[in-house]
Amino acid sequence: MLGTGTPNDDPDRSGPAVAIVVGTTAYLVDAGPGIVRRAALAARTDSIPALAAERLRRVFLTHLHSDHTAGLPDLMLSPWVLGRAAPLEVYGPPGTSRMATLLEQAYSEDIAIRLRGGEPSNKTGYAVQAHDVSAGEIYRDSNVIVTAFEVPHGKWEHAFGYVFKTADRTIVVSGDTHPSDAVVRACSGCDVLVHEVYDAEAFKARTPDWQAYHSSYHTSSYELGDLAARARPKLLVLYHQLYWGGSDSSIVSQVKTRYHGDVVSGRDLGIY
Ligand SMILES: [Zn+2]
Ligand SMILES: [Zn+2]
Repeated sequence: MLGTGTPNDDPDRSGPAVAIVVGTTAYLVDAGPGIVRRAALAARTDSIPALAAERLRRVFLTHLHSDHTAGLPDLMLSPWVLGRAAPLEVYGPPGTSRMATLLEQAYSEDIAIRLRGGEPSNKTGYAVQAHDVSAGEIYRDSNVIVTAFEVPHGKWEHAFGYVFKTADRTIVVSGDTHPSDAVVRACSGCDVLVHEVYDAEAFKARTPDWQAYHSSYHTSSYELGDLAARARPKLLVLYHQLYWGGSDSSIVSQVKTRYHGDVVSGRDLGIY
């Protein structure tokens, strides 16, 4: 977990970003703010070469909310300055290509000066290859098959969860979602389900307008317990936790009132 955070400015929780690591290759899910530095810390302290800057080459966006994408220009440009020659491959819902193109335009002054201003840069690594995808298999190589599935995230027209099928594990990342049968079907006994959650007890103290928002865009701890009992993951990892004064243990104990499998509240730099 490179970042387990939300839009909240919790210094211990970087913006949402998950790395599926297969050998020396990383497959990133979302690009929350802080992603490149969190990856650097994991690469160094946990000796994960796949997360070295020049190896950050592909990212799968669940949806285009800013907390999941504010690190995208960082992921496009910082690894380039650090020597990555390959363009960043970005996959995501409709709007992804437009965002990537506009970001490249927004940073055109920077890119021009680094290319032609005397900096010893390579001439290729700043570019982005963006792919607007729809549900179904969207990526395949010798390590992994990646499948996108639609999840209900409030008024978003398109938000995805992703399934990563590797030689030895199936990993499902929910993205931001209201409780959904699509996640149950995608997991269906999977090895690891990484799922968003909010504290259902702390929720009661939220104002009615926020309660209306969260209950249509996100998943409560009790709802997640019910969902996990049907999805049957071997390990449930909570992320994108909304605590509102609650804690990891309060959320986990709420999930466990409905679900008796293994549950862990994800933390930044946690390895599962
Ligand atoms: Zn979010
Ligand atoms: Zn969202």
